[in-house]
Amino acid sequence: MQHHPQQATLRQLCDGLAAGKFSSYELTHEFINIINELNPALNCFISVDAERSLAQARAADAKRATGNAPPLCGVPIAQKDIFCTQGWLTTCGSRMLSNFVSPYDAHVIERFNGVGAVNLGKTNMDEFAMGSSNETSFFGPVHNPWDRGRVPGGSSGGSAAAVAARMAPAATGTDTGGSIRQPAAFTGICGLKPTYGVVSRYGMIAFASSLDQGGPMARTAEDLALMLNVMAGFDARDSTSLQRDAEDYTRELTPTFAKPLAGLRIGLPREFFTAGVSAGVSKAVESAITEYRKLGCEVVEVSLPNMALSVPVYYVLAPAEASSNLSRFDGVRYGHRAREYANLTDMYEKSRAEGFGAEVKRRILIGAYVLSHGYYDAYYIRAQKLRRLIAQDFTEAFKLCDVIMGPTTPTTAFKIGEKSGDPVQMYLSDIYTIAVNLAGLPGMSIPCGFDNGGLPVGLQIIGNYFSEARMLNVAHQFQQVTDWHARAPKDAQKAVTS
Ligand code: GLN
Repeated sequence: MQHHPQQATLRQLCDGLAAGKFSSYELTHEFINIINELNPALNCFISVDAERSLAQARAADAKRATGNAPPLCGVPIAQKDIFCTQGWLTTCGSRMLSNFVSPYDAHVIERFNGVGAVNLGKTNMDEFAMGSSNETSFFGPVHNPWDRGRVPGGSSGGSAAAVAARMAPAATGTDTGGSIRQPAAFTGICGLKPTYGVVSRYGMIAFASSLDQGGPMARTAEDLALMLNVMAGFDARDSTSLQRDAEDYTRELTPTFAKPLAGLRIGLPREFFTAGVSAGVSKAVESAITEYRKLGCEVVEVSLPNMALSVPVYYVLAPAEASSNLSRFDGVRYGHRAREYANLTDMYEKSRAEGFGAEVKRRILIGAYVLSHGYYDAYYIRAQKLRRLIAQDFTEAFKLCDVIMGPTTPTTAFKIGEKSGDPVQMYLSDIYTIAVNLAGLPGMSIPCGFDNGGLPVGLQIIGNYFSEARMLNVAHQFQQVTDWHARAPKDAQKAVTS
């Protein structure tokens, strides 16, 4: 192929396909080669099926030849292994589903198929999306392409590392407490968690249903917008899917329509800039804020007084919902069944004991406990009340500002094994992201610099409900005057020159 597509953005690939510079078949073939080369070291993909992907690519080329193809027709996209994908192994990172071939497509997958996008493979993830490091996956940890001894974040760590290493131009992720934004920050890419209800959860294996939301991961804000245009939309099969008019999320990005940032009020929550943030992260975030001031933004201090409660509240509510959602994996209705057992109860117990990993079991136990008679009021109900207060804090803050900014994570990527023995330390890596899920707000992370060790830092942008188009514009304008998003780890260049 004449033009090397590996470093191209999703937008450039769409344009290249439209202009006939390369075919979807060539493009898909190229990315599969890169995956074959890098995956043994990085472990980003759980399943790759070149034949299926190339068949989709051929169909996309045929569709394009008819002259009316949607922008993403023929573009290869990696799919998080939490999305049920017909005919594909769909494991959710668990032994429990390690041989589950989905008989149907999730809404999100249907959407990508509908526009003729190519499924490049299913990406590695923390088991049932529970984790912040990808270390809880039954299929082994994912390695961060910026430093293979470090985690890529989680739970969408395979998607994040694949996009950062240029093994895929874009990928899907899901975010229950930070699983799109935190890995995006750790790998130097962009990720967006939409307003709760914008992307259908149908066919997205459930963790905590009142918090789970699918969203795009890519290298630029514009690419996130292109992805969200496909992913968003009403779906009657998800009872919390929102019935709204379709939006074009790129509408504020083209030069003619791009809203200037002059006068935009950026709220900096006092609680986000405390001693808990590492020096490297706070330095990069502060320079990003300075850049926004230069673009004409005003900075105001805001407060989210109940923020400190978001981690404990989340670790009551998310496990409660998980314990209920995961009851279906009993070796009968779904999932792994133990080979030997004495009776029915023994079969359930052995199947679940073998099928689930330690973190998932921990969550099921916590969840069953906080929902049990006698503790329900003290934990579950109280956490629900606090959830409301956390959401109200944001409502108050948005009276003073248009967007909220701060760090996505307190530190940059940590070492593999560094926190896996201490669940609470692990839970604290989501301290800045979890409140956004509790409130149902949209949040994103974009690259804004590096720490002294050369590891990427993420800037978090939180918007009011349904302000995704505006947030994407805010990120896009930053990316017009900075190049943090364009930096690539060494691994990503290796494939090009080899
Ligand atoms: N790290 C958080 C957890 O372990 C969030 C995970 C997620 O967003 N899926 O629950």
